[in-house]
Amino acid sequence: MIVVKSSAELERMRCSGRMVAEVLQLLREKIAPGVTTLELDRFAENKCKKWKAKPAFKGYGGFPYTICASPNDRVVHGFPNSEPLLDGDIISIDFGLIYDGFFGDSAVTIAVGEVDPKTRKLLDVTRQSLEDGIAAALVGARLSDISQAVQVCAEAHGYGVVREFVGHGIGRALHEDPQIPNYGTAGNGPQLKPGMTLAIEPMINAGTPAVKVLEDGWTAVTLDGGMSAHFEHTIAVTEGGPEILTKL
Ligand code: MG
Ligand code: MG
Repeated sequence: MIVVKSSAELERMRCSGRMVAEVLQLLREKIAPGVTTLELDRFAENKCKKWKAKPAFKGYGGFPYTICASPNDRVVHGFPNSEPLLDGDIISIDFGLIYDGFFGDSAVTIAVGEVDPKTRKLLDVTRQSLEDGIAAALVGARLSDISQAVQVCAEAHGYGVVREFVGHGIGRALHEDPQIPNYGTAGNGPQLKPGMTLAIEPMINAGTPAVKVLEDGWTAVTLDGGMSAHFEHTIAVTEGGPEILTKL
């Protein structure tokens, strides 16, 4: 069942969304060659403590950290660690929190120092595929309109759309109905209504779509060893069009 939020609930989700966006912005400013993802994790956790918010991922299904940190060929759900980031790396940071009863969830992939033009393009196209997906989240549209918009954008550049992980409804729970695949044919699935809140999150590989999960049981990597990018926003479907909640 898809939970439609009242305007008072949407206001609370705007608040948690802004908090998520602020943490991600602060993390973005810290990212540079030599920084470790464990430092970023501690920073994000401390921010949550200071704001009396709860990290969304820590303890979720046993996930041990506040952020997911997935460099280069890591797709999603990577563990922060003490290896310094290197010039030319890309790093996907996924972060969520719950505040005042509502979750926000967002992810960005960031270039560390100077990345090569091919990798830069992967980031640009993945961000664009998220924007295209969001633009399709209109009142009266179907859920798979979002999926198709993401897929068309990514595949137009020859990239692989990851199938194993999907976006999701979000609100009082981190993962609510519906699941939102990043591939599909428009015109299918539930009709979008004002007050639906969705986390749209394309995971796009430079090469083939195939992924595998490492022995830690969490970290997903590309099977072909190519780069992977991940962008995510929590949005609300409104009469005035899609509203991004995880923004400053
Ligand atoms: Mg996320
Ligand atoms: Mg998510």
